[in-house]
Amino acid sequence: MPIRILPPGVAAGIAAGEIIERPASVVKELIENSLDADATVVSVEIQQGGLQSIRVTDNGAGIPEDELLLAFERHATSKLISLEGLSQITTLGFRGEALASIAAAAHVRMTTRTASAQAASVVEAHEAGIKLQKRQATAHGSTVMVEALFSTIPARLKFMRSSGAESARIRQVIEHMAMANPSVRFTLKSEQRVIIQTSGNGDVRDVLGHVFGSIAASEMLEVTASPRAQFSVLGMIGQPSQNRPNRTGISLFVNGRWVQSLTLSTAVREAYRGLLMEGRYPMAALFITVPPEVVDVNVHPNKREVRFTNDGDIFSSVERSIREVLIRAHPQVQARGLFVTAAEDSRSMPAAARAFDFTVSATSNPTEPLPEPNQTSGDTSLVKLGPDGAPETLLHQPVWDTNELRVLGQIAKTYIVAEGQEAMHLIDQHSAHESVLYYRLLRQWENMLPDVQPMLDPLPIQLTPEQMETMVLAQDTLARYGLALEAFGDSNYLLRSVPSMARRIDGARLVQDVLDVVRGAGISRAGAHQVIAASLACHSAVRAGQALDQQEMEALSKALITESNPQHCPHGRPTIIQVTTHMLEREFGRV
Ligand code: ADP
Ligand code: MG
Repeated sequence: MPIRILPPGVAAGIAAGEIIERPASVVKELIENSLDADATVVSVEIQQGGLQSIRVTDNGAGIPEDELLLAFERHATSKLISLEGLSQITTLGFRGEALASIAAAAHVRMTTRTASAQAASVVEAHEAGIKLQKRQATAHGSTVMVEALFSTIPARLKFMRSSGAESARIRQVIEHMAMANPSVRFTLKSEQRVIIQTSGNGDVRDVLGHVFGSIAASEMLEVTASPRAQFSVLGMIGQPSQNRPNRTGISLFVNGRWVQSLTLSTAVREAYRGLLMEGRYPMAALFITVPPEVVDVNVHPNKREVRFTNDGDIFSSVERSIREVLIRAHPQVQARGLFVTAAEDSRSMPAAARAFDFTVSATSNPTEPLPEPNQTSGDTSLVKLGPDGAPETLLHQPVWDTNELRVLGQIAKTYIVAEGQEAMHLIDQHSAHESVLYYRLLRQWENMLPDVQPMLDPLPIQLTPEQMETMVLAQDTLARYGLALEAFGDSNYLLRSVPSMARRIDGARLVQDVLDVVRGAGISRAGAHQVIAASLACHSAVRAGQALDQQEMEALSKALITESNPQHCPHGRPTIIQVTTHMLEREFGRV
C-alpha cells in the first residue's frame, strides 16, 4: 500500500485509545477537569460499569459558551500556552486531549454554566461532529454525560471485563481522587446505588476510612516530613501488621496527582525492611510535594507515570521519612535491631541459631542444606515447588522416627522446645501449625469433604478490580475448601461459610488476601488449589508471639509428627530443627 495520511476520524480514534483505555479512564479525565475548575463537589453516576453511561457533575467554574466548541478540539486547553510552561504545570490536565478523545470514542453531552452566564450552554459531540444545543437552566458548574463508550471502537469493547470489574476500577479512581482531595465531596453511584461518598471535610483519615476500613485507617501512622524546602512527604502509613501480599495497598501522589512510580513504591517497601515477612507489602497513602520542575508528568498520554530528575534523592528522602515514623511508633524496632538484613529475614531463623550446625530433621542427611524458602521470589508463589513446577507432593508416610516428644516449654512465645530421641527439638509454632493445617486441607480437598463453618450472618466483602477478576476464576475452588461466596451487587461478594479452622479470623481479610495471593501465583496454573490451601493454612495457624499452654504445645507437636510433613511448612520454611546430643557433646567439648 502507498503511504497516506490517515483520515482524521481514524487518527482521532487511535489517539483516543491511548488516553481512554476503559470506562475508568473517562472518569479520571472528567474528574481531573472538575478539579482543575476548582470544584468542591463532584458526583459520578454510572450504568453497567460505565459502558452504558457515565455522568460527572461538578460545581466548578464552567466554560463560557464562546469557548465550548473549542474545548472539544484536540490540543485545545486553557492550562498551557508554551513548552516552557510544561515544567511549571500545576494543573492535572494540560494536553487538551481528554474531551476530544472521549468524543471520538462515545456520545458526549456537556452542560456547562459559568457564574456570570444567565443559563447553561449545551453541546453534543460524537464521532460525526459537534453541535450546540438549546440552552438550559441549571446551577453553575458542568455536567458531562458519556454514553455508549467504545461503540465506535469495537476492538476496544472486546477488552472490557465484566461491568462489576469495570465499576470496581471506577471506584478505585474515585477513592484515589478523594484521597488527594479530601476537601472535595465525592459521590459515586452505580445503577442508582451509592457506592462511595466522602464528606469533603478535609480530613484524609476520613477518606482512608472509606478505602481501607475505618478501623484500619484509625490505626495508621501519620507521616509529616519536609526533608528540604519545597519538598514534603505527608500522608498515612500502615502498621507493620497491616500488611498485604501485593502493592495494591500503596497509593502514591506527586503534587496532587495519583501516580505509578517504581522509585516511590520501592522506597516505601524498603522503609519496612525487616518488619514484614518475605513477599508482604505495607499499606500507605503518601502525598509527595516537589518543585514542579523536578518531575516530568508528560511521560504517557494518560499522565499516570512520572519521572524525577533526582531519583536517588527522592528515594532516600521518602524511605527515611517513613522509617523515622516507624521507629518512633515502635522503639523496639531500633533497640532490638529488628531491622534485620534481607538474608536473615528470608531464612526466618534467629541469627544466633545459625551459628550451630542444625540439621532439619532426624532422618535427613546432616550435610543436606536447609530447604530453601520460597524458590520463586516475591509474592509469586507461596508453595514450595518441586522440579516440575508443581507443588511438592504430600508425604503420607511420616518420615519421623520419634513417636513421642517430651515438651519442655516455649521460647520467645514462638518456639516449642522438646526432647526426643537423642536430640533436642525446636519447633516453630506458626510454621508447624501451618504445615499441619495445610495437609489437613489437602486431604479434605481430595476427599471432597470440606470441614465447613457456616456464617451466622453472611459477611459482605468489597473487592478490588483485580480481586473481582480472580474471584470469577477461583470461586469454585474456594467453595471446595469451604469458602462459599456469592456475587452481590457491584464489586461485592457475600461470604456464607469458611473452613472451620478459619472460623475465628477476619473473613474479609482472609478472602481478599487469598485472592491476591492466587492472582500473584497465576490461577490458571495447575496446582493453584494448593496455593489456596497454603494461604488458608497461613491465615488460620497460630501466630508467633502467642503464649501456648502445655496441652496445646503437646497437641501441636503430635499433630506435626503424625499428620504433616514435619520438615517444612508450605512456604518451604523449616517447621522443626534439631540439636542432637552428639552436637551438644561436641559443642561442650565432651568428644
Ligand atoms: P485539558 O484538561 O488537558 O486542558 P480537556 O480536553 O480535558 O483538556 O479540556 C479542555 C478544556 O476544557 C480545559 O482546558 C478546560 O478549560 C475546559 N474544561 C473541561 N472540562 C471542564 C469542567 N468540568 N469545568 C470547566 N472547564 C472545563
Ligand atoms: Mg483534562
